[in-house]
This record gives sequence, structure tokens and C-alpha cells, in this order.
Amino acid sequence: MLKFTTAFLIFAFNLLLMTSLFGQDLSLSRQLFDTYDTYREPGLTHRRFKQSDILPLIDQLKTDSRFEVTNVGESVEKRPIQLIKVGNGPRKVLLWSQMHGDEPSATMALFDIFNWLRREGPFDAFKKQLLAETTLYFVPMLNPDGAERYQRRNVLDIDLNRDALRLQSPESVILKGLQQSLKPLVGFNLHDQGTRYSVGHSRKQATISFLATAYDEARNINPVRERSMQLIVGMNRVLQQFIPGGVGRYSDEFEPRAFGDNIQKWGTTLILIESGGYPNDPEKQFIRKLNYIAILSGLQAIATDAYKTESRSEYNTIPENDRYLFDVLIRNAQIMRGGKPVTVDLGINRYEVNVGNAATFGYRSSIDDFGDLSPFFGIEEIDATGLTLAPGRIYPDTLRSMADLKKYKLDSLLQQGVTTFRLASPSRATTHLSPVHLLQPTTTAVRPVQTGRIPTFLLLRGKQLRYVFVNGFWLDVANQSNKLATGVVE
Ligand SMILES: [Zn+2]
Repeated sequence: MLKFTTAFLIFAFNLLLMTSLFGQDLSLSRQLFDTYDTYREPGLTHRRFKQSDILPLIDQLKTDSRFEVTNVGESVEKRPIQLIKVGNGPRKVLLWSQMHGDEPSATMALFDIFNWLRREGPFDAFKKQLLAETTLYFVPMLNPDGAERYQRRNVLDIDLNRDALRLQSPESVILKGLQQSLKPLVGFNLHDQGTRYSVGHSRKQATISFLATAYDEARNINPVRERSMQLIVGMNRVLQQFIPGGVGRYSDEFEPRAFGDNIQKWGTTLILIESGGYPNDPEKQFIRKLNYIAILSGLQAIATDAYKTESRSEYNTIPENDRYLFDVLIRNAQIMRGGKPVTVDLGINRYEVNVGNAATFGYRSSIDDFGDLSPFFGIEEIDATGLTLAPGRIYPDTLRSMADLKKYKLDSLLQQGVTTFRLASPSRATTHLSPVHLLQPTTTAVRPVQTGRIPTFLLLRGKQLRYVFVNGFWLDVANQSNKLATGVVE
């Protein structure tokens, strides 16, 4: 009996120790991951939604007595900015997304979280605790005018995240006003970062990056900032289950004009979450799910005080974001220069270009580096050892208009290395849907492949065609795998 009691006490003590060592409860996050599709907001399916797409979703919340929706002001173009409040607990948390108009991943996740809060089910006990211990304030899409154009800045051409001191934009005044009047314990500042950040010096894309923003040049750590670090340590542990090695730490260099840095200074623990890139997730729908899990796990740690047992030193073990990725890296291609073969790597990046009212986009790609790129990695990589780089073939006839393209069997022309058509009259388009390279009447047809150029070319083994590149996208002729996407007008 004595033996049994001792064994039980040791077991219970270990359990206690484990709970305190691992402040963040991992079972919740696993369950959130597995049940995500039940809560995912089906009205948001891609990144280029606008405020008119989310207003009806906010209206639905007004019919739910648990939610309080308040107009807290308007954007430069008079779009309403709304604050959504839920819960009655002593710990106030303010979450805002998309202060940069082209950074919408977390906005989608916030609407998933609203669905999760509203629907009854397996999380009811935790939800009850969460809403009793915290009061949550959400501002989804702080910069609706920027979102309308899918651009970073607001319509005054001001970056709201450099306007925390001067407060020249109404959107900035609203955010500062909320922080000053609510005095939240914790703020979540939700952004997207470029998809080409690597986790340290590695080929891993930084899918999610965190930052416990600095509040001074010396990057000191006070209890307010320490709490950010502790919360991030827990959220990082949660995410490592789903994206092992895919979490980075954003540089904590002090930016005196940024909201994150100032809010930390004004006494609210600030957590910056940056949504980066994930393979084959151009619309960031998996990253949206990770935001949903990370934010809810962070809220759990706040509601239960579980973060208090996290060690801030673990924060520094998260690798820093770095810049070691190209969208495509071609290694060891041969190119003829002055009659001599030269071995080069090519670093290619694909840039999104808004089309029409920015509801859709094309790409304009660029050869961003050239030469020995051996320290770098490609999200897509091609080993071109033994292959020679040559210009794409130009179709002999000139197109009277872009619509003329329909007359040609582009698939079979591309298989023969025809990448490029000349236009007879100028076009205002810069991208187009067919995977070919169009030349304006004034554009010189034959130029060397070099940095700054659009990557349209061929890779040949002897005389045999191996890869066809158009605007940074490629067709593998030997294996018939086709990654071609939108074309370009140059
Ligand atoms: Zn941003």
C-alpha cells in the first residue's frame, strides 16, 4: 500500500512537472488541426478578397448576442473600421490584421476563429474558460482601402506601420486609440511576409515567423516584452508539430515608427505573427490554418496563464529569418559568352502583378542573380549540369492582336521551344493568361540572358530540348511535367 502511494505520488509529481515544463497544451492544437474544416469560413477562399466580402460575415456576428460589433471609425475612403468584442474576462487581448492591404492571411483565420467561437461542439469547455478569463477585441482588415487595391500602403500612400508616431492616417489613429483606451494585456499584430524568407541558412521556407518586438534601441527585456517571448515559445512548440523547422524569428531591430515596437513601449505585450510561404500553397490556405491554430493556442496560454512557465531563453533558439531562397534556382548551366562556355547558376524570382481591380494577378519574373549561387537554395531547383542555355525561339509571324494567339497550338509550339511572339501594335497589358512571352512592337527581340531580364529561354542537351522557360515558369520536355503559368508582355 505504501509502495503504491509512493508510486502514485511520483507519478502525480511528474505529471505536474510535465505540465509546468510544457506550459503550452499540445492536445488542444492537435484537435484544432484535425477539426479545422468544420470551422473554416467558406466565404473566403483566396487572398484577394475585399472589405465588401467580409462585411456580410461581420453582419452575421451582430445577430449573435455573444458578440458586440462597434464602429470605431473609418478609413480615408470612408470604409467603416469595426471592432468585434467577445468574452467578459479580466485579461484583455486586442487582435488586428491586414494593416498592410496585401497581407490578408490572418484576416481569413480571424473569421475561422469567429466560427469556432460560435459553434457548439468538442471545444465548449475550453471556450467557456477562454471567454470567462479573457475579453477579445478583433479588428479584421485595418487597411480596407489598401486591400481594395491589394497594396501594402493605405490610399494616402502611407505605410500604417511607419505612422505610429505621426498618426497622419485615420487607420493609425484608430489603432492607437484602441490600445490607449482598452489598455490590453496582449496585442496580436498580424501580417504577411515575403514567401522567400528562409529559416536561418537553410532551404526551409519560413512559413510562420514570430517577433517579440523591441521597445528600445538596446532591445532590453522588461516584463511586458518577456511575456511576448514566453507566449511565442509556446506557439512555436505548437507549430513545430505541423511545420517542423518551418518557424522563423523576425529581426528585432528597433523601428521607432512601427506600431509593434510602440505598442510594446506603451505597455501592451505585443506578438507579431508573419505569414510567409509554404510549398504549393500560393493562396496561403494552409498558412491560414496555422494562424488559426497558433492564435487560439496563444489565447489558451493567456487564459490559463500557462505561458508564465515558459522560459524566455527558448525564444532565442528559434532561428532568425534569412534570405537564402529563390523561387527557382538553376544550377550549373552553360552559357556562351564571347564564344566561350561559362558555367553559371541563375536565381529566378516571380513577382505578382495586380490585374484589373486587383481581384486577380499575373506574374512578371526576373533573373535576380547570376553566377556562383552555391550558398543559396531554390523553392524549385533544376540541375542543369551538362545543359546549355539558349534564347527562346521567336515565332516568325507577328500577331495583329493578342486574341490572335488562339489560332496557334501553343502547347506544341512550346514543345518545339517557341516561347515568344511579336505584337504588331502596342498593348497596355503587362501580363496575360497564355504561357508565352509577348514583345511590344518597340521591344528589341534578341537580348542576352542576364540579371534584370525576364527569364524566357531554353535549356538544351546538345541539340535536344530539355527545358523551356517562359517568364520564370518551366516545361520539362523530357518528363512532360509542366509548371507553366501566366505569360508576360514586355
Ligand atoms: Zn505587414
